[in-house]
Amino acid sequence: MFRYISHLVKSFTLFELLQGLSVTGKYLFKRKITIQYPEQKTPMSPRFRGHHALRRYPNGQERCIACKLCEAVCPALAIDIELEEREDGTRRTTKYDIDFFKCIYCGFCEEACPVDAIVETHIFEYHFEERGKHVITKDELLAFGDKHETEIAKRKAADAPYR
Ligand code: SF4
Ligand code: SF4
Repeated sequence: MFRYISHLVKSFTLFELLQGLSVTGKYLFKRKITIQYPEQKTPMSPRFRGHHALRRYPNGQERCIACKLCEAVCPALAIDIELEEREDGTRRTTKYDIDFFKCIYCGFCEEACPVDAIVETHIFEYHFEERGKHVITKDELLAFGDKHETEIAKRKAADAPYR
């Protein structure tokens, strides 16, 4: 009987509706945490692992010495390297492919690289429009590195004290 009366009172006074609205009202004047992406962006760590890039030294020389450590450490077997020895005795890659469909963005390749050649950049907004374009070639990786070198160097420098 008591439960019936209680239910009746709650129904007539709209108690549960007001209870729900009080939760909405509680958050109405609080600081908004929703980000209006893509106009607004969230802060990003210098260690963010996005699109890969191959870097060069300031004199234009490729950093990569074809040691294959990145290929060996890659848990997804996403990196495919072929190399040659040049006349001056240096080793350079003739092929450096990364399959972005296999890659799990773990960052192991970047960690393993002794010369900071392969890096994962802050760029995460990218897509592929043609079949097969998910395999990124050496030329594309170098061009990507050239394009974003300033930002890559800045982020590397910001992270250096913590390594
Ligand atoms: S980020 Fe990880 S999975 Fe992707 S290429 Fe590098 S080592 Fe392989
Ligand atoms: S990117 Fe770095 S780890 Fe990979 S082959 Fe080149 S030098 Fe070695």
